[in-house]
Amino acid sequence: MSRRRRIYEGKAKILFEGPEPGTLVQYFKDDATAFNHKKTGTITGKGVLNNRISEYLMVKLGEIGVPTHFVRRLNMREQLVREVEIIPIEVAVRNVAAGSLAKRFNLTEGMQLPRSIVEYYYKADELDDPLVSEEHITAFGWATPQDLDDMLALALRINDFLTGLFLGVNLKLVDFKVEFGRLYEENGDMRVVLADEISPDSCRLWDIETNKKLDKDRFRHDLGGVEEAYQEVARRLGILPEGGPTDLKGPEMVQ
Ligand code: UDP
Repeated sequence: MSRRRRIYEGKAKILFEGPEPGTLVQYFKDDATAFNHKKTGTITGKGVLNNRISEYLMVKLGEIGVPTHFVRRLNMREQLVREVEIIPIEVAVRNVAAGSLAKRFNLTEGMQLPRSIVEYYYKADELDDPLVSEEHITAFGWATPQDLDDMLALALRINDFLTGLFLGVNLKLVDFKVEFGRLYEENGDMRVVLADEISPDSCRLWDIETNKKLDKDRFRHDLGGVEEAYQEVARRLGILPEGGPTDLKGPEMVQ
């Protein structure tokens, strides 16, 4: 691997300078964190699987006209993406009560919500990513009203599409989180595009029949079978790497 400048290292990914201006390489690690870094660990093969799963979902979303930062997968752990200015808001879309929503309103986990609920969280580790309203977002200038309109419309389209896609492989899309970025075209135009990743790290996915959790909640709550859950999602989507589970370690060393 060539020596590349490291632009940013996050919890589960590293961003390197890309081969051309305006591109980045997104490297997927096996590291996992939960509860704002209070719990850390590794999930063997997660990076390889999330690279594949996110590629698959971003390509499918691109095919229905959702603009994304994804360009192409480069190898087992890396993908080429367009460089964007990340909007510091996590957009969560929920279909079924779980996680922090169930806790906040004392809802039974698994309750179907009367309609999809969209929430915004301000990305700030030191504040534990607080829940914020559109008022906070526009008043503090994290996003403009136009950005927000675009983010909301895209998040709802992504939810509708992914709900159907996962249902097709007997998975219930309980909730998920997405991030958006501003992509500046050479002519100066700006578009809001889907960025970051979509994977079992950022979605809650339950088996449609048994409600078995097949996502990061297995790691968060020490449910066991974490690696197997990520593999199962990839398997159902028909995208397990060629060598199957034995081929999941992939290159570990970077730089
Ligand atoms: N989520 C995420 N990153 C975060 C927080 C949440 O990807 O920093 C995802 C999480 O996996 C779930 C959805 O967003 O699919 C809603 O999460 P929730 O607010 O319930 O938070 P959690 O229970 O993870 O604290």
